Amino acid sequence: MIPFNKPYLTGKEMDYMHQAVSSGKISGNGTFTQKCQKFFEERYGFKKALLTTSCTDALEMCAMLANIKQDDEVIVPSYTFVSSALAFVRQGAKIVFAESRIDHPGVDEDKLEALITPKTKAIVPVHYAGVACDMDKIMHLAEKYNLLVIEDAAQAIDSCYKGRSLGSIGHLAAFSFHETKNINSGEGGLLAINDQRFVTRAEIIWEKGTNRAEFFRGEVDKYGWVDVGSSFLPSELTAAYLWAQLENLDDIQKKRIEIWEQYFLGLSDWAQKKGIRLPKIPDYAQNNGHMFYLVCESALQRDHLITHLKNNGVYAVFHYLSLHKSKFYRSRYHGDDLPHADEYTDCLLRLPVFYELTPEEIGFIMNTAKNFPE
Ligand SMILES: *Cc1c(COP(=O)(O)O)cnc(C)c1O
Repeated sequence: MIPFNKPYLTGKEMDYMHQAVSSGKISGNGTFTQKCQKFFEERYGFKKALLTTSCTDALEMCAMLANIKQDDEVIVPSYTFVSSALAFVRQGAKIVFAESRIDHPGVDEDKLEALITPKTKAIVPVHYAGVACDMDKIMHLAEKYNLLVIEDAAQAIDSCYKGRSLGSIGHLAAFSFHETKNINSGEGGLLAINDQRFVTRAEIIWEKGTNRAEFFRGEVDKYGWVDVGSSFLPSELTAAYLWAQLENLDDIQKKRIEIWEQYFLGLSDWAQKKGIRLPKIPDYAQNNGHMFYLVCESALQRDHLITHLKNNGVYAVFHYLSLHKSKFYRSRYHGDDLPHADEYTDCLLRLPVFYELTPEEIGFIMNTAKNFPE
């Protein structure tokens, strides 16, 4: 069976974790954490980067930094992972779900303005499959209505919008290093802060509401409880593992993009004949090789194709279920129907993409798909 995903080990993970253990300092914010954070700040131009235990945690920090309160409204696409909305729901926000684009599962930027009310506090663009949302349009709305933009860049490591790194454009951004993402530490995440106003408070929220970070820099002479917060920082073991991945980021990215391109070239003619759509990368965006998906003609065709692939040894999977129809949120949702989000719920299928997938295996997966009788 070809799995859908296989986390890639670069070979140095155990060495670095061993180093962390031997150093005698394995709690958070040690040498490896700082190396990782510096790497992100320098490579992507974030004002400040803070490692977190997950992307979900980084989004929760965003909700706290944005001071989201009961009945504030936050605009989130319906076709996304639960965490994009959950982090704000925990603070009492009402989620206003937004529609996907007709040509891409990402949010339809042109339908956002109609969702803004005097209660709107933030917009959460999700760069689905690592493909940028049209950030100029979103940042323009944010300026016009004085809103915060929080990029859910969970899938968007090393990707760009008009040459600018994703995660560096919104006021805040969250990345994931879950084992299903391009680079991983099992569980893990990153908060990127681009607006200087949030830097000091983010460090405090990160360290259980204390000003510990300022204390260790010698900026205050004692540290204590100064704000809300939680324990959002990962241990040095996680950071050590992540560092091994970051050292190989260029190699990992190159490999994943090659896999993506092999699928795209190999499946184009077949897909067109079947009425199946392949991923679209707008001119302003870039492909980071996070995901290769197909959009089938119908739910039936999609489900049968998944079964056909599985029966032949290939594990392909569907993706999100529209959040506005979720068991948790549907009774709270009073907005419009979102037919495009529902279409991706029903018709989208993801093919295996992971570092160790060989050209032969990709050939086999594509031939198996092409033998699909429907
Ligand atoms: C993976 C993912 C998350 C959650 O990441 P965790 O690190 O598992 O918390 C959030 N949003 C999107 C879009 C994701 O793909």
